[in-house]
Amino acid sequence: MTVMKGTAVEEEALAIATAETCPLASAQTTAGRRTVIEIDGRRVGGESFALIAGPCTIETREQTMQTARAVRDAGATLLRGGAYKPRTSPYAFQGLGQEGLRLLAEAKAETGLPVVTELLDVADAEAVLEVADVVQIGARNMQNYALLAEVGRAGRPVLLKRGLSSTLEELLMAAEYVLKEGNPDVMLCERGIRTFENAYRFTLDLTAVPVLKERTHLPVIVDPSHAAGRRELVTPLSLAAAAAGADGLIVEVHPNPAEAICDGPQQLRCDEFAQYALAVERAAALAGKTLGAGGSVAVASPPEREPALA
Ligand code: PEP
Ligand code: MN
Repeated sequence: MTVMKGTAVEEEALAIATAETCPLASAQTTAGRRTVIEIDGRRVGGESFALIAGPCTIETREQTMQTARAVRDAGATLLRGGAYKPRTSPYAFQGLGQEGLRLLAEAKAETGLPVVTELLDVADAEAVLEVADVVQIGARNMQNYALLAEVGRAGRPVLLKRGLSSTLEELLMAAEYVLKEGNPDVMLCERGIRTFENAYRFTLDLTAVPVLKERTHLPVIVDPSHAAGRRELVTPLSLAAAAAGADGLIVEVHPNPAEAICDGPQQLRCDEFAQYALAVERAAALAGKTLGAGGSVAVASPPEREPALA
């Protein structure tokens, strides 16, 4: 009897991000060396786990400062927050723009947390680069090649989100556009993809984590907030992502999510964030990673913190 070997589909799956198709992003070209990105003394990648937290959108000074302090106190690595927002509806709030960038700069000055914020348009690059320690390229712009080349030339770490319906090969090709311009500091972000399932906002593709880690040397971050669409799902998805070997999480946090202008239902509350961070720290440890390692502020353990894993 003849034993059938692998199908063409199986072989194709193994062929993504080869040294030929993605010479700069492929793990085949670095002989086991992994990219570790340094941001103001914080590390992303290797044994360091990054907890990137903050509001979906910068709304007010009070909301920004309150969130920045809460996530800093709980041991977050970086502060996230959008000043320019990609919205499905052109009638929805589009972000505070320059005023949002100013508030992010103020939050960084007070808390010391480096800032991750989205660049939507090449035209805003100069303003965003004045404040951003990490430039976020959103899911809807993953294949905006002019924007990718622009951040490739900007010399600032980039957080590149996977497109809503993009394959891992397309994500790695998009990363290759940034790397090709001479910027080696790219982290990839799985944020949920479109599938037939409609019981939640997107389907978090956790298989992407070990597969990306196999195919590329770049750090892999997971966004549980946009995948889940509601806060009850954020903790379980975060723990699974950390245990699966992700290099970090980017998660939305708000002082009063019921009042949030954007993405309220999926944002964690500031007052539950310390407990969440502790649970994440433990899950990351399962995969051999340390939250806050590499020169960043060590995770404080305030007495009021309680074990979050029942
Ligand atoms: C965001 O991070 O706020 C965001 C809009 O994410 P995405 O591009 O993944 O939808
Ligand atoms: Mn959001």
